[in-house]
Amino acid sequence: MEPTNVEACASCFGKGTQFRDMGPEPCPDCYGLGELPSASVLRERRLRELEQRYADRTEQSRDLRWLVSEVRRSNHALLQILAASLDGDPDDAVVKKIGFLANDVLGLYRPRAIEDQPSGSA
Ligand SMILES: [Zn+2]
Repeated sequence: MEPTNVEACASCFGKGTQFRDMGPEPCPDCYGLGELPSASVLRERRLRELEQRYADRTEQSRDLRWLVSEVRRSNHALLQILAASLDGDPDDAVVKKIGFLANDVLGLYRPRAIEDQPSGSA
C-alpha cells in the first residue's frame, strides 16, 4: 500500500488563494497550501470543530462529546488493527482483507487498483 497522496483543494483549484473584494486571501479550506490534508487530519479537524461548537453543558453537548470520544477511540483501534495487518503475512487473504477494511475507514493508504495487484491475486 502506498500513502494517500495529497489531493488538490477544489475550493481554490490548488492555488492556495481565493480572490475576495479586498484582494487575494489564503483559502480557508486548505489554509493556503493548495492541497487538502489527509483524511485523518480532516476528520480530527471536524471533530474539534464540533467540540468547540458544542462546548456548553447541555445534554446534547454531553452526548456529542461522548460520540466524538467514541469516534476517536474507534479510529485508534482501527489504526492498531491496520498496523497489525501490515505486520502479518502479506500473502494471507484474511490479513489483507482486515487491513483493507481498516484502511477503508481510516483512509491512510490509497487502495491499489486491480491492475497493480501481483498476478494471481486478483
Ligand atoms: Zn484551497
